[in-house]
Amino acid sequence: MTTTDHPEQTSGSTGSVSGAEIVLSDVVKRYPGQKVAAVDGLSLTIPAGEIVMFVGPSGCGKTTSLKMINRLIEPTSGTITIDGVDIRKQSENELRRRIGYVIQGGSLFPHMTVERNIAVVPRLLGWDSGRIHDRVTELLDLVGLDPDRYRGRYPKELSGGQQQRVGVARGLAADPPVILMDEPFGAVDPITRQRLQDELLSIQRELGKTIVCVTHDIDEAIKLGDRILILREGAQVAQYDTPETVLSAPADDFVADFVGAGSSLKALTLARVGEVELRQTVTARVGEPVEEVKRRAEAAGENCVVVLDERGRPVGWPFLRQLRGTTIVRPDGDLVDVDVRATLNDALDTMLSSSHGGAVVTGDRDQFVGVIDFAAVTDHVRALEAER
Ligand code: ADP
Ligand code: MG
Repeated sequence: MTTTDHPEQTSGSTGSVSGAEIVLSDVVKRYPGQKVAAVDGLSLTIPAGEIVMFVGPSGCGKTTSLKMINRLIEPTSGTITIDGVDIRKQSENELRRRIGYVIQGGSLFPHMTVERNIAVVPRLLGWDSGRIHDRVTELLDLVGLDPDRYRGRYPKELSGGQQQRVGVARGLAADPPVILMDEPFGAVDPITRQRLQDELLSIQRELGKTIVCVTHDIDEAIKLGDRILILREGAQVAQYDTPETVLSAPADDFVADFVGAGSSLKALTLARVGEVELRQTVTARVGEPVEEVKRRAEAAGENCVVVLDERGRPVGWPFLRQLRGTTIVRPDGDLVDVDVRATLNDALDTMLSSSHGGAVVTGDRDQFVGVIDFAAVTDHVRALEAER
């Protein structure tokens, strides 16, 4: 990560909280001409530094509730405070600095480069160009895009998943304590969605923001949320609880139907790769002589090695036989990897696509952590069942 001399920009160490508490008190939104209120008296406390997921059927008032937090929509009545301060008492600039906003597809400006897109709010706030440049570098790195390669591109030169990453970077640009997201990963394919979700969890762990995220996908809510808010029509709270409690003790039939019966697949959505006993294996550096690597692997009884780049990130996972005929270890495209924060459900999906019967596990900043295999998952699930 790029170092910076702007104290308000330094994000605390891993696990610290830089987020702010949000409190909604009896918030009502009645659109003109609407008989029933879209949001009919919502009261809710969103703790600082947590991810709260809003879920519920279409039209139940999720987006309206979210947009009232950054005053894109004004409540008809009720109050909303951020760290105890009424949002109506804050200037527009103040709110923009304090609340990042990410929506589906990233909604980038097509005529602006990635850098300009990310810098929209910092420019509004009058940051100088050096500070903006450093911040864009830092953010692209954080969301997993090579800064040099992508900062000058236009949105149409990016894939959907990359556009979404830039959208997340833009939401984080002014280092806001609060980030609002409305179905941010709805428009990307399942594998990219899984990666972006893992990325978000990783960012959250590093930065400790308060994140409020709307989704219609209960599995996404279970995976990402510290808490889940399940709404019925009129933004009436059906249940507001941890994913574990929502799954194991749904408040009523509406919630039970919505989350689906507590199948064992759902339990796999609750467990993370990092909770499983990972296997250590032989690693090799790009550029190392193949002969040495083979000797190490054979001595350890391994038939494949994890290839790491100069920053300790896995770039390949060749079988030893695939190294035959080469003298120097090269990055090999055949990498099957999952994030340490991925759910076991996601990990199984990934592992099933792998001839290794497993996956390479990466942690913060894509560092190599270990290897997960089917046996480890099975053992973990058995242990969980034994606990119950
Ligand atoms: P969700 O995000 O949960 O799908 P919304 O917050 O978008 O729900 O909408 C809640 C209710 O308010 C719906 O009945 C919707 O039709 C209505 N609604 C949303 N936006 C407007 C608007 N601008 N004008 C009138 N009614 C609206
Ligand atoms: Mg919506």
